[in-house]
Amino acid sequence: LLDKAALTDPLTQLFNRRGLERALSALNASGVPFGVITLDVDHFKGVNDQHGHETGDQVLAGIAQCMRANARPQDVLCRLGGEEVLALLPEVSAETALQVAERLRSVIETHAFPTVGHITISAGVSHYPETQADADLVIRQADKALYRAKHGGRNRTVLYRRRSQRRENPS
Ligand code: GH3
Ligand code: MG
Ligand code: MG
Repeated sequence: LLDKAALTDPLTQLFNRRGLERALSALNASGVPFGVITLDVDHFKGVNDQHGHETGDQVLAGIAQCMRANARPQDVLCRLGGEEVLALLPEVSAETALQVAERLRSVIETHAFPTVGHITISAGVSHYPETQADADLVIRQADKALYRAKHGGRNRTVLYRRRSQRRENPS
């Protein structure tokens, strides 16, 4: 029980960073393929400014609930801090991870949050080993994809691609 508390974020009941580190080492040791989704709430500062920090916290708890409702038991859901969350999806393809992220983006876009109404998220997706053969770098790739989703206009899902690939396949 003590151990679980040490690995859990109290607000969302998702894993915290320490929980993520554990899950990631276990995944790395097993060598199974996995997808990574990082997501960040769009313009969340505005939610706090308009409705207050407590309501903002309720939105974060609601997002965690949406994630759980759309996850499999073996998926690892973590709050990285602030309004950024991450999912590890063991034994799925990059294509499936992208579809899961897009479904979650769409679920959240249509969800009515108490007091606040509608919000959107941006998501970045990477995959071990389809987009990154070094499991230690795969999360950084998902962050880069998330950055591109933000700069591409937010409320969207981006699968990591190398620059050269992006030039060949503009989307
Ligand atoms: P962007 O679309 O670029 O992501 O805009 P943003 O406003 O969401 O991004 P930014 O990273 O600038 O701000 C994140 C805000 O999240 C800052 C802070 O007010 C809020 N925040 C961080 N942690 C918490 C938290 O635990 N609870 C609440 N209510 N707000 C938080
Ligand atoms: Mg944000
Ligand atoms: Mg942020």
